[in-house]
Amino acid sequence: MIQHAEYTMLMSLVLDGEADADEEVRLREHLRGCDDCRQTWQRWRELDRRLLATPAIPAPVDFSALVLAQLDTRVAQERQRRWLIAGLTFAWLGAVVVALVSLALANGWHLQLAPAQGPLAAAWAGLSSTGSWALREISAFLVEIGAPTIAAVTGAALVLACGLAMMWLWVVARVSAGPRALVTE
Ligand SMILES: [Zn+2]
Repeated sequence: MIQHAEYTMLMSLVLDGEADADEEVRLREHLRGCDDCRQTWQRWRELDRRLLATPAIPAPVDFSALVLAQLDTRVAQERQRRWLIAGLTFAWLGAVVVALVSLALANGWHLQLAPAQGPLAAAWAGLSSTGSWALREISAFLVEIGAPTIAAVTGAALVLACGLAMMWLWVVARVSAGPRALVTE
Protein backbone atom coordinates (compact mmCIF):
# COMPACT_ATOMS: atom_id res chain seq x y z
CA MET A 1 0.00 0.00 0.00
CA ILE A 2 2.95 2.34 0.62
CA GLN A 3 3.74 2.57 -3.09
CA HIS A 4 0.07 3.54 -3.72
CA ALA A 5 0.14 6.46 -1.29
CA GLU A 6 1.15 8.71 -4.14
CA TYR A 7 -2.04 7.74 -6.01
CA THR A 8 -4.36 8.24 -3.05
CA MET A 9 -2.93 11.74 -2.82
CA LEU A 10 -3.63 12.16 -6.56
CA MET A 11 -7.21 11.00 -6.00
CA SER A 12 -7.74 13.67 -3.39
CA LEU A 13 -6.24 16.30 -5.73
CA VAL A 14 -8.49 15.20 -8.61
CA LEU A 15 -11.61 15.20 -6.44
CA ASP A 16 -10.75 18.68 -5.20
CA GLY A 17 -10.20 19.78 -8.80
CA GLU A 18 -6.58 20.69 -8.06
CA ALA A 19 -4.84 18.09 -10.22
CA ASP A 20 -3.47 19.02 -13.65
CA ALA A 21 -4.09 16.98 -16.80
CA ASP A 22 -0.84 14.94 -16.52
CA GLU A 23 -1.58 13.93 -12.91
CA GLU A 24 -5.12 12.87 -13.82
CA VAL A 25 -3.85 10.73 -16.72
CA ARG A 26 -1.25 9.15 -14.43
CA LEU A 27 -3.94 8.26 -11.88
CA ARG A 28 -6.28 6.76 -14.49
CA GLU A 29 -3.49 4.62 -15.92
CA HIS A 30 -2.66 3.31 -12.46
CA LEU A 31 -6.33 2.63 -11.63
CA ARG A 32 -6.62 0.47 -14.74
CA GLY A 33 -3.99 -1.90 -13.36
CA CYS A 34 -4.56 -1.67 -9.58
CA ASP A 35 -7.68 -3.16 -8.00
CA ASP A 36 -6.96 -1.75 -4.53
CA CYS A 37 -6.66 1.81 -5.76
CA ARG A 38 -9.67 1.44 -8.08
CA GLN A 39 -11.85 0.38 -5.11
CA THR A 40 -10.53 3.24 -3.02
CA TRP A 41 -11.18 5.64 -5.91
CA GLN A 42 -14.78 4.38 -6.31
CA ARG A 43 -15.42 4.73 -2.56
CA TRP A 44 -14.02 8.26 -2.52
CA ARG A 45 -15.97 9.31 -5.58
CA GLU A 46 -19.17 7.90 -4.07
CA LEU A 47 -18.48 9.76 -0.81
CA ASP A 48 -17.76 12.95 -2.72
CA ARG A 49 -20.96 12.57 -4.75
CA ARG A 50 -23.03 12.08 -1.60
CA LEU A 51 -21.51 15.10 0.09
CA LEU A 52 -22.31 17.24 -2.94
CA ALA A 53 -25.82 15.79 -3.17
CA THR A 54 -26.62 16.53 0.49
CA PRO A 55 -28.83 19.58 0.51
CA ALA A 56 -27.48 22.47 2.50
CA ILE A 57 -29.37 23.07 5.75
CA PRO A 58 -31.70 25.95 4.97
CA ALA A 59 -30.99 28.99 7.10
CA PRO A 60 -33.99 30.53 8.89
CA VAL A 61 -35.53 33.24 6.76
CA ASP A 62 -35.16 35.82 9.47
CA PHE A 63 -34.37 34.32 12.83
CA SER A 64 -34.48 37.53 14.87
CA ALA A 65 -37.81 38.57 13.31
CA LEU A 66 -39.19 35.11 14.11
CA VAL A 67 -38.06 35.35 17.74
CA LEU A 68 -39.46 38.86 18.05
CA ALA A 69 -42.81 37.76 16.61
CA GLN A 70 -42.98 34.89 19.09
CA LEU A 71 -42.06 37.26 21.90
CA ASP A 72 -44.83 39.66 20.82
CA THR A 73 -47.31 36.80 20.83
CA ARG A 74 -46.18 35.79 24.31
CA VAL A 75 -46.56 39.36 25.57
CA ALA A 76 -50.02 39.63 24.00
CA GLN A 77 -51.09 36.34 25.59
CA GLU A 78 -49.74 37.44 28.96
CA ARG A 79 -51.60 40.75 28.69
CA GLN A 80 -54.78 38.90 27.71
CA ARG A 81 -54.39 36.57 30.69
CA ARG A 82 -54.01 39.51 33.08
CA TRP A 83 -57.10 41.26 31.71
CA LEU A 84 -59.02 38.02 32.00
CA ILE A 85 -58.02 37.53 35.64
CA ALA A 86 -58.83 41.16 36.44
CA GLY A 87 -62.25 40.83 34.80
CA LEU A 88 -63.09 37.60 36.59
CA THR A 89 -61.95 39.01 39.93
CA PHE A 90 -64.07 42.10 39.34
CA ALA A 91 -67.13 40.02 38.43
CA TRP A 92 -66.81 37.74 41.46
CA LEU A 93 -66.18 40.69 43.78
CA GLY A 94 -69.34 42.29 42.43
CA ALA A 95 -71.30 39.11 43.06
CA VAL A 96 -69.99 38.80 46.61
CA VAL A 97 -70.80 42.44 47.37
CA VAL A 98 -74.33 42.04 46.00
CA ALA A 99 -74.82 38.87 48.05
CA LEU A 100 -73.48 40.47 51.25
CA VAL A 101 -75.55 43.61 50.84
CA SER A 102 -78.74 41.65 50.26
CA LEU A 103 -77.96 39.47 53.27
CA ALA A 104 -77.27 42.56 55.41
CA LEU A 105 -80.47 44.26 54.30
CA ALA A 106 -82.48 41.10 54.93
CA ASN A 107 -81.16 40.88 58.50
CA GLY A 108 -81.64 44.58 59.12
CA TRP A 109 -77.94 44.99 59.94
CA HIS A 110 -77.89 48.53 58.65
CA LEU A 111 -80.42 49.46 61.32
CA GLN A 112 -78.37 47.79 64.09
CA LEU A 113 -75.14 49.38 62.89
CA ALA A 114 -76.57 52.87 63.29
CA PRO A 115 -76.16 54.06 66.91
CA ALA A 116 -79.32 54.90 68.76
CA GLN A 117 -78.09 58.28 70.02
CA GLY A 118 -75.77 61.11 68.92
CA PRO A 119 -75.20 63.17 65.80
CA LEU A 120 -74.72 60.11 63.61
CA ALA A 121 -78.04 58.76 64.80
CA ALA A 122 -79.65 62.11 64.05
CA ALA A 123 -78.10 62.11 60.60
CA TRP A 124 -79.20 58.56 60.06
CA ALA A 125 -82.69 59.40 61.25
CA GLY A 126 -82.78 62.32 58.83
CA LEU A 127 -81.59 60.12 56.02
CA SER A 128 -83.97 57.37 56.98
CA SER A 129 -86.94 59.71 57.18
CA THR A 130 -86.22 61.28 53.81
CA GLY A 131 -83.89 59.43 51.49
CA SER A 132 -83.84 55.84 52.58
CA TRP A 133 -87.53 55.19 52.58
CA ALA A 134 -87.21 52.96 49.53
CA LEU A 135 -84.23 51.18 51.06
CA ARG A 136 -86.16 50.48 54.25
CA GLU A 137 -89.10 49.28 52.25
CA ILE A 138 -86.83 46.91 50.35
CA SER A 139 -85.11 45.66 53.51
CA ALA A 140 -88.44 45.18 55.24
CA PHE A 141 -89.59 43.26 52.19
CA LEU A 142 -86.45 41.12 52.32
CA VAL A 143 -86.92 40.40 56.05
CA GLU A 144 -90.44 39.40 55.29
CA ILE A 145 -89.52 36.90 52.59
CA GLY A 146 -86.51 35.45 54.45
CA ALA A 147 -83.65 33.09 53.70
CA PRO A 148 -84.83 31.25 50.55
CA THR A 149 -85.16 34.53 48.73
CA ILE A 150 -81.71 35.60 49.88
CA ALA A 151 -80.34 32.38 48.48
CA ALA A 152 -82.19 33.07 45.26
CA VAL A 153 -80.78 36.60 45.11
CA THR A 154 -77.28 35.29 45.76
CA GLY A 155 -77.72 32.73 42.99
CA ALA A 156 -78.98 35.41 40.64
CA ALA A 157 -75.97 37.55 41.51
CA LEU A 158 -73.62 34.66 40.74
CA VAL A 159 -75.38 34.03 37.43
CA LEU A 160 -75.04 37.72 36.65
CA ALA A 161 -71.34 37.51 37.52
CA CYS A 162 -70.90 34.56 35.17
CA GLY A 163 -72.66 36.48 32.43
CA LEU A 164 -70.40 39.46 33.02
CA ALA A 165 -67.35 37.18 32.96
CA MET A 166 -68.45 35.68 29.61
CA MET A 167 -68.99 39.15 28.19
CA TRP A 168 -65.56 40.09 29.48
CA LEU A 169 -64.03 37.03 27.80
CA TRP A 170 -65.62 38.05 24.54
CA VAL A 171 -64.33 41.63 24.86
CA VAL A 172 -60.81 40.44 25.71
CA ALA A 173 -60.80 38.06 22.74
CA ARG A 174 -61.89 40.86 20.42
CA VAL A 175 -59.34 43.33 21.78
CA SER A 176 -56.41 40.90 21.75
CA ALA A 177 -57.24 39.72 18.22
CA GLY A 178 -55.90 43.02 16.88
CA PRO A 179 -52.23 42.82 18.07
CA ARG A 180 -52.04 39.08 17.33
CA ALA A 181 -53.22 39.61 13.76
CA LEU A 182 -50.45 42.19 13.36
CA VAL A 183 -47.84 39.77 14.71
CA THR A 184 -48.71 36.96 12.31
CA GLU A 185 -48.54 39.26 9.30
ZN1 LIG B 1 -2.57 1.24 -6.54
